[in-house]
Amino acid sequence: MTLHNLNILVIEDDSFQRSLIVNMLQSLGVLNICEAGDGKQALEVIDQAVIPVDIALCDMDMPEMDGMEFMRHLEKRKSGVSVLILSTLDRALLASIQTMAKAYGINLIGVVEKPISLAQLKSLIAQFEPHEINVRQTIAATHAFSLEEIRQGMRADQFEPYFQPKIDLKTGKLSGMEALVRWLHPEHGVISPYAFIAQLELNNHIDELTFIMLEKSAAACRLLQSENPDITVSVNLSLISLNNTELAHKITRVVKDAGLDPRRMILEITESALMTDVAHALENLARLCMHGFRLSIDDYGTGYSNMQQLTRIAFTELKIDQSFVKEFACNEALRIVVKSSIDMAHKLNVKSVAEGVETQQDLDALKRVGCDMAQGYFIAKPMNLAAFTEFCQKHDATRFAALPLIDRRAPVNAD
Ligand code: C2E
Ligand code: MG
Ligand code: MG
Repeated sequence: MTLHNLNILVIEDDSFQRSLIVNMLQSLGVLNICEAGDGKQALEVIDQAVIPVDIALCDMDMPEMDGMEFMRHLEKRKSGVSVLILSTLDRALLASIQTMAKAYGINLIGVVEKPISLAQLKSLIAQFEPHEINVRQTIAATHAFSLEEIRQGMRADQFEPYFQPKIDLKTGKLSGMEALVRWLHPEHGVISPYAFIAQLELNNHIDELTFIMLEKSAAACRLLQSENPDITVSVNLSLISLNNTELAHKITRVVKDAGLDPRRMILEITESALMTDVAHALENLARLCMHGFRLSIDDYGTGYSNMQQLTRIAFTELKIDQSFVKEFACNEALRIVVKSSIDMAHKLNVKSVAEGVETQQDLDALKRVGCDMAQGYFIAKPMNLAAFTEFCQKHDATRFAALPLIDRRAPVNAD
């Protein structure tokens, strides 16, 4: 990839320093350059870019949303943007930021102390290799669809929930399913939520999708109840929807009209820094709880002020983010974090669920640390209702219920 084909985003709150870097990039022959004054603006630029952003040159210390928070949100978008950190922070802190960025799965080109020289900038950018996601997910990337195309797709009834099972780790039995939205696009096939959720959220149209999901998921759950009386369905809620105080009433009505008892539905929420009106959100959540819905804290461990969240919301389930669960069987620090999250859930009298369980080893290790439930590719990938119905019929609880064989070489207790 030559330099002039690249699209580079410069994120820097100091406008003088920003224009210095922009000038350097221009002198290197880069044609597509965009700018942002902090992380929040940068995410908007990335979401709306017509030409996908390849590299973000990112300052760390910025008002509103700093560079670290930016990277956390960036990872969720699976946008394929690579990051070059420019900062005046001390080396030890930069090293830990580097570890954090890698842990988030960010493709990090490098960490450079400011001010960067032209030669440094040139050699770092020359080494740039596009992140594979950028190539793989061009179609799925957020910018690929305009708001109008997405809304047209909703009007044409092209959005469907796919269901992923959640199993009880003590019995191996199916305990519920999570509804994950898919766009069944007539030309591009099955499109993942990363390609449209952020766009809908940014433009305040996410509720249209939420209600499609609530209605279809409630109907599916009611259907499955005849064979699986205890099954629950989990639906993801966007925080932005919670700003509207009418939301709880509307959700209750839609779910009841679809014939489902709200006690069979779990609403999953992830707190984020973008949560604008805490009071309205808490009013909605309290009302939903009062109407019988159960609340789950999704992506636990990655959210913004997640400890504070635990004290504010009447939740009944804690979903430990997959970034902690992956590789946790062989990583001591991850094991401690996961185990203490599970212990905390138990002390708070709520269920713990591990997301992203991909191997038998992960599953066994989760049982050892007392996790209640698991969800992940090792059990099954998300699937459409017909396939899920078949899954329920064939599900063999004993396959997951057997206690793990204890490897005597490995520590038995996770303490
Ligand atoms: P989430 O709610 O945390 O959902 C779990 C995601 O992890 C799903 O991705 C699921 O397919 C994926 N997953 C499950 N098991 C594994 C595994 O073993 N390995 C790996 N690598 N991944 C696994 P998906 O379906 O692409 O959804 C991504 C995110 O989009 C969801 O994360 C959720 O935040 C959002 N989302 C999905 N559906 C909706 C919706 O209807 N409304 C809203 N507002 N957000 C939604
Ligand atoms: Mg979820
Ligand atoms: Mg999650």
